[in-house]
Amino acid sequence: MRQNRWNDKEADAWVRDAGNHPADQTLALRVYSSRIIGADPDLVMHGGGNTSVKTEREDLFGNTQKVLHVKGSGWDLDTLEAAGLPGVRLEPLLTMRELGALSDEDMVNMQRSNLLDSSAPNPSVETLLHAFLPHVFVDHTHATAFLALANLPNAEEAIAEIFGDRLAVVPYIMPGFALAKKAAEVFDANPDVEGMILLKHGHFTFGATARESYDKVIAHTNMVEDWLARQSDGRRFACTVQSSRSTPVKAAATVLPALRGAVARVRGAHHGAAARPVVMDLRTSAEIEAFLKRGDLAELSKRGVGSPDHVIRTKGRMLVLEASDLSGDTIARKVDDYAADYRVMFEAQNARVGGTKIMLEPHPCVAWIEGLGIAGIGKDAGAASAAADIAEQTVEVMSQGEAAGGFHPIGSNDLFDMEYWSLEQAKLAKAAAKAFAGQVVAVTGGAGAIGLATARAFAREGAAIALIDFNREACEAAAASIGANCLAVVADLTQSGAAETAISEVAARFGGLDVLVSNAGAAVQGNLMDLDDATLRQSFELNFFSHLAMAKAAARVFAAQGHGGQMLFNVSKQAVNPGKGFGAYGLPKAATFFLVRQLALELGNEGVRVNGVNADRIRSGLLTDDFIATRARARGVSAGDYMAGNLLKAEVEAGHVADAFVALAKSERTTAHVITVDGGNIEAALR
Ligand SMILES: [Zn+2]
Repeated sequence: MRQNRWNDKEADAWVRDAGNHPADQTLALRVYSSRIIGADPDLVMHGGGNTSVKTEREDLFGNTQKVLHVKGSGWDLDTLEAAGLPGVRLEPLLTMRELGALSDEDMVNMQRSNLLDSSAPNPSVETLLHAFLPHVFVDHTHATAFLALANLPNAEEAIAEIFGDRLAVVPYIMPGFALAKKAAEVFDANPDVEGMILLKHGHFTFGATARESYDKVIAHTNMVEDWLARQSDGRRFACTVQSSRSTPVKAAATVLPALRGAVARVRGAHHGAAARPVVMDLRTSAEIEAFLKRGDLAELSKRGVGSPDHVIRTKGRMLVLEASDLSGDTIARKVDDYAADYRVMFEAQNARVGGTKIMLEPHPCVAWIEGLGIAGIGKDAGAASAAADIAEQTVEVMSQGEAAGGFHPIGSNDLFDMEYWSLEQAKLAKAAAKAFAGQVVAVTGGAGAIGLATARAFAREGAAIALIDFNREACEAAAASIGANCLAVVADLTQSGAAETAISEVAARFGGLDVLVSNAGAAVQGNLMDLDDATLRQSFELNFFSHLAMAKAAARVFAAQGHGGQMLFNVSKQAVNPGKGFGAYGLPKAATFFLVRQLALELGNEGVRVNGVNADRIRSGLLTDDFIATRARARGVSAGDYMAGNLLKAEVEAGHVADAFVALAKSERTTAHVITVDGGNIEAALR
């Protein structure tokens, strides 16, 4: 059952905070009920679905005008704000209905040129549909249950059985002017209906108040869920999205890098370039497991999508990998076959529409992997997660639909028109790709000053980030500070097997790895002559052997992907310039300094670059404020002067070290190199 989340107190609070203008108060209720719709991913997700409200506002001359506030592109309902519901003058929109036809470009231009705020985002492509309906509040959702219903072969019969004449039925037409006109026509013939179902697309409700329309969203969806449960022996679904994350890590860490490598090669070839990596997002749950055991996956995978705009995120066809397909060679062949089929489909469809389209990247965006789960594949972590969310919902839509009579969505022509619709393409082509978009970066010591600064620097450049740290609380807090898609891996890298497990977790979460930043370290103090062996050996475990173990684990993932990779080591000036009392730190660091060059030599022919940074005197867990004060006092200088005790007379911060790591990662023809980030120190300068 969908929960009715309406709460009068919350609604009143939104109204109260909106100020005194009645239009602002109405808009606040629109924001509130949009958010509670968006809070349920089974109703709407990733820009699918939209809401609107009609109000009156005065223009600069004091004349009252009717205004439609409708969801703008780039906003999701669960995080909607008033700014995400741009106001459009309603009267000019209504006159559009008299036109026989209207191109998408003219429609968008008409909508934009009637915005109250010329800098507002583009109103939804379904704006005219909202405008043509007379009700004050209009809600449009793509609920899982409605998608199962709307794609049944006998949908109209089933709808009549469930709703009688309470819902009007609109035949499938691609979103835009023609659909808006048709829906208005259907509504005018049935003006007393509570809502409409758009075949093979979704659901509309409306009402005089936000509450009235929202209540219908929930009530109608529950009626469909009840009906579907009766068709499938009472089987119900609770929430289709991210129902579980208990990933089979070991299997995923073996299969996903091979798949990721194959997709990266297809993507690279499409751009006439080297491999171009993607981020993956694997989902598993009891429902998915059961689905992947069906005997008809090959056929189902070609059926299509639950709602037309899903094709933008998932493509119209899913890649199926059976249990017997999971070797690297077979995975690569399956991905190549998928791309070849996609090219054939594109050529035929493009010829049909007059040869005006340019082919999109031909790789799969969703993989159904038997025994493992379903993987979303995208140009960054956000795109992968969106594809995975929709793929999860699609599993449920297909399962429910097949149990209730069949899943029969829009056919290949409609699918192509949607995938190559200029207005939908515009949704995706926002900013130019960032330098590390699609790449996965893992940082050890990720919760420390240098680790976190480095992770942030790579995140700013678009990378998917995994933080590895032994301190759970700090690691999780650091990951949360980077964003929802940042992975926290808790590991004590001095333990045997820990590096391998940590890298497997990264590969299972994002599909693989491109850049390892091996940064974890800790200074051990004391003169070598006085130190016991165990302490020195402990220092070697963390400051040398853990780096080697991480390198080995990363190299295995790089080899499975087949497109090289990078290792970046946080060495230390101690590696070349000993400090009194720091022998037990400098010795393993000197070995790690050598490791950079040795690994560069051994891994170069696999396209793996290995570089390092020698930093000195950075405020961090190793160099605390107390420690700085003590050292400064010992030298008879202020703490500030101590920290700026270098040629440049400027303190070196964690961010400067982070910038050096990113610069090395961008230097495509640099390997076996160590950069010094210490503000200048001739004694520590490298030859
Ligand atoms: Zn829609």
